[in-house]
Amino acid sequence: WQDVVRDAAAVREAAAVAVDAALLAGVLMRTGEQPHASDVVNYAPFTLLPSAVPRALFEQAYAVQQDFNLLVDTISQNKEFLEQTLASTIKVDDFTARLFRIYMQVLEEGLAQTVFLGINRSDYMFDHGLDSTAALRQIEINTIAASFGGLTSRTADVHRLVLKVLGKTEEASHLLPNNPAKGLALGIAKAWEFYGSQRAVVMFLVEDVQRNIFDQRCVENELWNRNIRVVRKRFRDVFEQGSLDASRRLYMDGQEVAVVYYREGYVPQVYDQQNWEARLLLERSRAVKCPDIATQLAGTKKVQQALSQPGTLEKLLPGHPEAVARIRATFAGLYSLDEGEEGDRIAATAIADPDRFVLKPQREGGGNNLYGEELREVLEKIKDSPERTSYILMDKIKPQPALNYLLRAHSPLQVSECISELGIFGVYVRQGQELVLNQAAGHLLRTKAIEHADGGVAAGVAVLDTPYLV
Ligand code: ADP
Ligand code: MG
Repeated sequence: WQDVVRDAAAVREAAAVAVDAALLAGVLMRTGEQPHASDVVNYAPFTLLPSAVPRALFEQAYAVQQDFNLLVDTISQNKEFLEQTLASTIKVDDFTARLFRIYMQVLEEGLAQTVFLGINRSDYMFDHGLDSTAALRQIEINTIAASFGGLTSRTADVHRLVLKVLGKTEEASHLLPNNPAKGLALGIAKAWEFYGSQRAVVMFLVEDVQRNIFDQRCVENELWNRNIRVVRKRFRDVFEQGSLDASRRLYMDGQEVAVVYYREGYVPQVYDQQNWEARLLLERSRAVKCPDIATQLAGTKKVQQALSQPGTLEKLLPGHPEAVARIRATFAGLYSLDEGEEGDRIAATAIADPDRFVLKPQREGGGNNLYGEELREVLEKIKDSPERTSYILMDKIKPQPALNYLLRAHSPLQVSECISELGIFGVYVRQGQELVLNQAAGHLLRTKAIEHADGGVAAGVAVLDTPYLV
């Protein structure tokens, strides 16, 4: 968009149209000042212009999504793998250890759940090589509470309008349709159906502070359209109202729950003693958890690192050599910091050259990773202690920046050098041993200014975007 990016008058006009279009389309968030109210809302941050995404990499990301669904689902059923892989981590990371204890506890009791639903989002950046070619590199896969599928179902329309206002009608017609909200709802509806109780509801497990409620409402409303009842509850409600009957059916104040869709539960801060008890109750129940605790563990950074070790994918997915090759082709360099010579060596390399790496703890939600000088300092401090085992190291991906405007309420309109992260939503349903649904469910492009190393949309760093395939 070289020609328009520098045309201040055209940009101002287009930005005004864009903001109103976003409000009209429902690209909304509650405000930081009134996070509990829906009578004061604003638009969710988004780019003025769609960002260029190499078509081949976009297609590659879609093509590998069913493989990732299969992989995550397979790992979630492999106790030995989870146990071995997380053994060193749970010695030092309390949160992962706690989740792991619940996992072992429900296995010992025997699973009541027979229908499984996975909704994940595999995130990628486009690594810019020395020879000027770009490669698709997975950042992580989110197996719990992967968000923005709802709002992003509405951003392509906004960008289509913006391009027209800027005189780019032809380009506007090339923007792809995208409706993750529908795809995610389809998965939830299928799981609800296989659970097999007309009376039972779908329960969205939500945060105390629900700024991103409209994103969830998009999925919720798709379920109502299918005549499936949805309730929104917090962990505290589960503690107060939840119970299991003799066959471990889950009831909330007498109402049976078929599916529990977690949009909460991935950070340690939400769990007090009562909420841990609530989590255990849900996991013990027959209800379809999205995700079950095993699948949440399958999404840890430690598991991601273990998958990159030679031979691991082959062992997990025997008889799927093509899936293994497609998955491996997206991996960046990932390194264990477990105690031992190998960990010592990579720690020393990262201390000497921190800008080549990202240091990641077992946390989700943005803002937890360490970069540059900070990475060096922390690694210096923990390099000889078992604490380093709670982290992994990853090669830093370096995308080619592009100019764009990040539209954010109450912020000045200014051009930024930006990089993007592409997410592909995956959804699958398994009944017993059989995958009855396995598909990609749409995409999410998030873009941020290059001065921020870390952070997503909810963290206030990245904004919603639409891919323009080139
Ligand atoms: P979280 O679970 O907190 O979302 P991520 O692994 O997705 O953790 O990292 C958060 C953000 O940090 C990403 O959205 C991305 O912007 C940045 N990031 C993570 N890993 C890398 C990497 N290897 N190279 C460059 N940036 C990265
Ligand atoms: Mg992330």
